[in-house]
Amino acid sequence: MIGLEGVSKIYGAGPTAVRALDNVSFQIPAGEFVSVMGASGSGKSTLLNLVSALDLPTSGRLVLAGQDIAQLSDDELTLFRRRTIGLIFQFFNLLPALDALDNTLLPVMLERKVSAADEQRAQQLLEEVGLGERLHHTLNQLSGGEMQRVAIARALMLAPRIILADEPTGSLDSTTGQAVLRLLRRSCDRHNTTVMMVTHDANAAAIADRLLVLKDGRLIDDRLVNKQSDTHELGVGT
Ligand code: ADP
Ligand code: MG
Repeated sequence: MIGLEGVSKIYGAGPTAVRALDNVSFQIPAGEFVSVMGASGSGKSTLLNLVSALDLPTSGRLVLAGQDIAQLSDDELTLFRRRTIGLIFQFFNLLPALDALDNTLLPVMLERKVSAADEQRAQQLLEEVGLGERLHHTLNQLSGGEMQRVAIARALMLAPRIILADEPTGSLDSTTGQAVLRLLRRSCDRHNTTVMMVTHDANAAAIADRLLVLKDGRLIDDRLVNKQSDTHELGVGT
């Protein structure tokens, strides 16, 4: 679950200060898929950075999976993030010299010895994002869209309770984009994962249960998405 209470984020100070998020509050229950939309500069990435606990709010309270993150030390926060949150940010923390399989297995390597079952799961995830033929290509041999798909496989590897995605389909063709959305949707439905996805694409947003809209750092809309017609359109569950 993701809970924000009166969260603001101000960058800088004095006359040049930017209020990137302004008193934002919402509660997202476990297993909900939420899209975040809004014009460029409206605060979407700032919101994801806070929810990923990569950055702290200037004021307000942030609770992730039952944990008030302000209560954690830096070391605890690192572990909490690694175990609880899957990040799909562009190229975030991918290692160019490792191949697609090892990049996908990275979250496991940080926790324990990699098992045959782990390798099988990583391979399956890569197949599901259309990279079955690229398992042993190093990342610097892959295109931007392919790297993005490795990032997605890696984020799903440990079946995290929260997945945060910033424009996950932005650099993908529409077929691969839909496959990625279905993968996120399925993670939500089968594993009760909470997904928060920033997107510019109304079609992508329609896969969600709920839509949040930001404008100038404020939450101006928070509503349920009509799932029946939209999931039909995206072919989900078929
Ligand atoms: P979006 O992702 O919706 O395009 P952002 O969250 O990136 O919007 O940015 C919201 C506002 O905060 C913008 O005015 C942006 O210029 C500003 N901003 C974002 N990051 C920083 C930063 N690190 N330092 C200063 N201002 C920033
Ligand atoms: Mg952004």
